[in-house]
Amino acid sequence: MSVGELPDPAANGYRDTWCGRVLPERVEDEVRVAGWVNRRRDHGGLIFIDLRDRTGVVQLVFHPDRSAAAFELAHKLRPEDVLSASGKVVRRDAETVNPALPTGEVEIAVGAADLLADSETPPFQIEGYADEVGEDTRLRYRYLDLRREQMREALLLRHRVTAAMREFLGAEGFVDVETPVLTRSTPEGARDFLVPSRQQQGSFYALPQSPQLFKQLLMVSGFERYFQIARCFRDEATRADRQPEFTQLDVEMSFVEADDVIALNERMLAHVFAAVGGPTIEAPMQRMAYAESMERFGTDRPDLRFGLELVDLGAALAGTEFKVFKSVLDGGGSIRGINAGKREVPRSELDGFISRAQELGAKGLVWAFREGDGWRSPTAKFLSEAELAELNRLLGAEEGDLLLLVADKRPVTDAVLGQMRLDLGERFGLVDEAENRLVWIVDFPLFAYDEVEKRFDAVHHPFTAPQEGWDPSDPGSALSQAYDVVWNGQELGGGSIRIHSAAVQQQVFAALGIDAETAEARFGFLLEALRFGAPPHGGIAYGIDRFVQRLAGAETIRDVIAFPKTASGFDLLTGAPAPVDEPQLRELGVAIHKRGKAGH
Ligand code: ASP
Repeated sequence: MSVGELPDPAANGYRDTWCGRVLPERVEDEVRVAGWVNRRRDHGGLIFIDLRDRTGVVQLVFHPDRSAAAFELAHKLRPEDVLSASGKVVRRDAETVNPALPTGEVEIAVGAADLLADSETPPFQIEGYADEVGEDTRLRYRYLDLRREQMREALLLRHRVTAAMREFLGAEGFVDVETPVLTRSTPEGARDFLVPSRQQQGSFYALPQSPQLFKQLLMVSGFERYFQIARCFRDEATRADRQPEFTQLDVEMSFVEADDVIALNERMLAHVFAAVGGPTIEAPMQRMAYAESMERFGTDRPDLRFGLELVDLGAALAGTEFKVFKSVLDGGGSIRGINAGKREVPRSELDGFISRAQELGAKGLVWAFREGDGWRSPTAKFLSEAELAELNRLLGAEEGDLLLLVADKRPVTDAVLGQMRLDLGERFGLVDEAENRLVWIVDFPLFAYDEVEKRFDAVHHPFTAPQEGWDPSDPGSALSQAYDVVWNGQELGGGSIRIHSAAVQQQVFAALGIDAETAEARFGFLLEALRFGAPPHGGIAYGIDRFVQRLAGAETIRDVIAFPKTASGFDLLTGAPAPVDEPQLRELGVAIHKRGKAGH
């Protein structure tokens, strides 16, 4: 029996088998099934009901001569009524066999049937998967939406994924430990959800953004290997495909280096994918340094299934007279480009590329087609023959190739061209959907400089260990011992070796502008624990929702979560978040500061 499959039911007054198990081998047997009316068809003297349970659908046939009472009942049945029915399994006539159904060769000639519950007319059809049903309606009536096959399959897949993870990690000696949900702020860089304390008015618990600090403490406790399928909470700006609460597979281990964690994870991914029909993992998987990934793909989540790599063109333009390029280079910016290959693209679409680049944050976009030794492009006249020849050489441009260039500060050229590369890959059909490319991105910078706030931020989180021999006086060039695993351009998981020395942790806090007092107030418990003999340790976390979404090929993560919230954080089923009564607020010592419309 495979994970998530139902064993045969113990016979009782409702059923003795599953709808989906009424197969040709049961012909002539008396069976009893129970479930929901999927569909009813009246064929003059006969009534056909498709009955559905978790395992599938079976056809019931009601004949007036067999049981007048059952026939009478069948007349009144409507979709989603709940029924138990018994009768003999018979072969269908050749012309009524339904090859699309596993039970399609047989039907149950009903002798007796009981209506167990009736249903109001559902707000949408359950049978099939009518995409025209608005998502808000599906979420409002989620319990009905979950009756649909596609949703059931998605949740079963999710179960099989987490079961395979547990199976692998259990066999490797990882201990499943629960960590608190009512806790203190754990900095993953998002806003906290807060819970007011009734007993300590004016004080708040924070919901964990991840179990990060607790899993590190478990390593200090000597647990060696920990995992948890943990709920995490981040009050982030509404983004289309995010949830305020989401699930991670969280893992931590002691006395390990990055290579150990990576190797274990490759084995785990191979195990999980083999169990649920994901891509084949060939260990060791490819690794790529962050700097190389940014250089070639403009992102740290490269989709390696196609080319169109970014090329740095500064060298060809060092002495250029073209003002736009010159001022960018003089200001320390970069000029980067993509050779999109031999394409025929109308002018209107080229204008569309320019708008897209601007929407992504560029001031403009230069387009060109290689023509002879030069370019066909509105920009060609501003560039010398030598410059054009060198640009063509750097871009590997051949006759007719479409070239797209952006000039700006490096993060902008990366971000704009990195996204346009993906757009173009899709536009020109360059992605082979059957291909899977997994890669570890390593050697991340430890810190990123925030130009607006004029300070360094942690690229991962502040507990990530720097690489050997880092110089705390030069945070800008420090690299970390972090690693992310990326699958076809999406981050599946990420983690790092952690800082296990209180002194180094303090240096990192200092580089982040967290003074000793603040560090003590917020993370004193961690710093203290690190002084009591902390082993070298490291780990990783995977976003389970995204993981399953990818495997299911679902459009949004909401389609693999039983009871998700809308993109703006509403639970349409229960109506959360909801106002609370004044007495409840008083008890918590909380007063609501009424905001004007603009505040909402
Ligand atoms: N706690 C990190 C996160 O939630 C993962 C890790 O470093 O293990 O992204």
